[in-house]
Amino acid sequence: MVLFLVILAAAFSIHLFILLHSLSISIHFFVLCINSAYSELLPLGSRAYFSSLHFLQLAACSITVHFVLFFCARILRISETRLNRLWLCELVEKGIAAIFGPDTSNTNEIVESVAKNLEIPQFQVFWNPKLEQFSAENEYKNSLIFNLFPEPHMLATAFATLLNEMKWKKYAVLYETDEGLIRVQEILKQHGPQDPSVIVRKLTVGTDHRPLLKEMKASSVFQIVLDCESDHILDILEQAREVKLMEEYYSYILTSLDSHSIDLGRLKAAKSNITSLRLIDPNTTEIRMVAQDWELGQLSHNNQHIKVSPESIRTKAALIYDSLNLFTTIFAELDLAQTIEVKPLSCQGNEISDHGLSMSAFIRIRPFPKGRMIGPLSGPLEFNNLGQRTIFTLQIIERSLHHHRVVGVWNSKKPKNINYTISSIEIKEEIKTQVQMKTYRVKSRLQEPYLKIRKAVPGKIFKGNDVYEGYVKDLLDGIADILNATYELSLVEDGYHGNYDPKKREWNGLIKEILDRRADLAVCDLTITYERKKVVDFSMPFMTLGISILHSKARREPPALLSFMNPLSLDVWLYMATAYLGISIIIFLVARLAPGDWENPHPCNQEPEQLENVWGLKNCFWLTMGSIMNQGCDILPKGISTRMVTGMWWFFSLIITASYTANMAAFLTMERMGPTIESAEDLATQSKIRYGIMEKGATETFFKESNVSLYMRMWAQMQQDVPSPFERTNSDGVKRVRASKGLYAFLMESTSLEFERNRHCDLKEVGRWLDIKGYGIAMPVNSIYRTEVSGAVLKMQELGKLHELKEKWWKGKCEKENLETESTARLDLSNVGGVFVVLVGGMVCALSIALLEFLWNVKKTAVQHHLTLREAFIMELKFAVNFKIREKVIHKSSSESRS
Ligand code: GLU
Repeated sequence: MVLFLVILAAAFSIHLFILLHSLSISIHFFVLCINSAYSELLPLGSRAYFSSLHFLQLAACSITVHFVLFFCARILRISETRLNRLWLCELVEKGIAAIFGPDTSNTNEIVESVAKNLEIPQFQVFWNPKLEQFSAENEYKNSLIFNLFPEPHMLATAFATLLNEMKWKKYAVLYETDEGLIRVQEILKQHGPQDPSVIVRKLTVGTDHRPLLKEMKASSVFQIVLDCESDHILDILEQAREVKLMEEYYSYILTSLDSHSIDLGRLKAAKSNITSLRLIDPNTTEIRMVAQDWELGQLSHNNQHIKVSPESIRTKAALIYDSLNLFTTIFAELDLAQTIEVKPLSCQGNEISDHGLSMSAFIRIRPFPKGRMIGPLSGPLEFNNLGQRTIFTLQIIERSLHHHRVVGVWNSKKPKNINYTISSIEIKEEIKTQVQMKTYRVKSRLQEPYLKIRKAVPGKIFKGNDVYEGYVKDLLDGIADILNATYELSLVEDGYHGNYDPKKREWNGLIKEILDRRADLAVCDLTITYERKKVVDFSMPFMTLGISILHSKARREPPALLSFMNPLSLDVWLYMATAYLGISIIIFLVARLAPGDWENPHPCNQEPEQLENVWGLKNCFWLTMGSIMNQGCDILPKGISTRMVTGMWWFFSLIITASYTANMAAFLTMERMGPTIESAEDLATQSKIRYGIMEKGATETFFKESNVSLYMRMWAQMQQDVPSPFERTNSDGVKRVRASKGLYAFLMESTSLEFERNRHCDLKEVGRWLDIKGYGIAMPVNSIYRTEVSGAVLKMQELGKLHELKEKWWKGKCEKENLETESTARLDLSNVGGVFVVLVGGMVCALSIALLEFLWNVKKTAVQHHLTLREAFIMELKFAVNFKIREKVIHKSSSESRS
């Protein structure tokens, strides 16, 4: 009972509403009888508006009647369809020229069948996909039906094209009725197997849609197609706003053609983009005139001034107006040629309308005569054989926080295209202002030198972005400066860059932050990869890099004191010493045998009594020593055999000294090398040095996805290695390399590698880059500020700012050292210390011998001069230290002088 009372109240309120506005917006059922009395009005073209108004008022009355009947019927338990039929038949018996309506397809079938049976033209104004189902045998009867609503398939194509143009791939479709699902079928059809999955959900029965909307929020869908009654749109969107589904980055496409007429003022501060299509252009003269006329109508009828704005005229009202307009125009034209008589008919009888078919034919031939009266509000009225309207134009309306405007036009003649009405310059300007007004939410992660927490400075408290410092912070400052924008920097919770987990089918790290729209920009050492590029957009790269190998430098063995002996083995030294002794003695013996070495001691005496041989053992040892030291000797052998022996010794010395010199150079600079590697190939072909990478990063993806056999082998090796060679961060990898004493190499990106190498002098980069890529700033797909951010990065690069930042943050104590090649490394004292020791040892020996010789001489002097040893010693010492005396008198002993 309560329900019926509600229905009754609703019927009256609708009646009132329509009477006030002259709009039949919520008409439930609309059958209008045109009787002969009314035909008096028809030829009066100038009064046509008024006639339309009159029609509407009549319609409104009929609705009220209908509701009352409906109410009664319920009580009498008569079905709605039967009721319609009863009522329609009642009207038919009074005589009707055409049927307008009904409002929905629910009750259409009975009306349509009566219209066809009695050959009365029927004008429909609702979305009717069933028109196509008519069989061919009934074709001539089909010509009596005219549906002014856009043909369903074409309309669906328009929405599909819109989605395509807007590049929607991952989206949700929310529909209210099963009809809605049919409406969006065309959209779903163009969804390819490779595209991300589309969520399709029916809106919950009742008025609370929050649970479903929350589900949408959780599923990270940012693009939603909403198919519902235009009167429900506002409610649903308001609930969406409550569950934060109307934030920035969320976009909606509304399939209702009346969406533009809804006042979204209630959705204050909703930042989403709402796109819809409309058939009625409120800016046309026709619509404005009609709105004005209806407004005046109110004034004259009810003495009330109620504003009727062109925007508030809904599609159905306009279509009813158009159908009435079409009918009256055609009726008037036909009336000129023949007398039209509207006679009473019966639903049960065999009699049919006289004018129905001719009127239908006339409508098809001359859809809307020009110049007769005001043109149709919904564009040209042309119908196909099934009475469908396949030729129509739709405007694309975009509403956002910043604007509400027509952005393009879709035309059924080119259903796969959209003609944009705003120029690219206008769009650019708009984006520029939006970009400047924006405070960017930036996410990053802590990793030196990109970002770190600023060290505390006494008396200074850092707040906001100033808590951080590093390359990324400076880069963001630079970009914000150029764009004239602001930003809020915060850290990603899990600390990852962003990796896709195929099992969970989700991303982590910074990429997830972007996908969930918790960040507008993600900036760190974030590599631009193919996988990531599919889900987020990147700015142009601000750094170029490649994967490289980090290894520890070979450690130098502290050289031994006698390291100068290293070039030759101990055996060689022993053999050399033996050879030295042997050759010296051989020379001595050979010289005694060789006549050439027995010489005249006084060359002036041509006939000497004695010959002399200088090659005593002392001289022989001196000669061999001089040669092997490359110094030569002041006396040389003259005999053939001695020369032969000496020559051979010289040859031996030449080879030995040359070999020694060559080996010495290598030995003095050479470190004690462990196993060494020069490239990734070297790494892969050995098993002593383990190698690893940072997990869940672009480097891991590189190895995992690579088709190059070398990298595939390396990846397989890394996976099976125990303990795991993977590290959580680059810093962990660096620590492991340093601790492993050369037994672990870490494959990492060259930029981070360079930074670590500059700080730790025991590290080095090995080989060439394995690939070339770049770091970019990630942002949501199709971000309007992408071009601006890329432009700012480019500008910074051109101004040399990026280079300056790199210099600033990459500086390290080992930078210079790394520039020196190992071969040019200097020798330190430890390398040549042994030589000094030998020198000092030699000196000590020499001094000792000198002392012995001196003492020997003292003893000789004491004997010669009959002095005590002490006197002789003092005398000889005085003489020796008197540096002025350069000559020494030889005191011949008495025995000597005697002889
Ligand atoms: N830059 C890498 C990324 O964006 C992380 C470091 C790496 O994988 O070596 O994932």
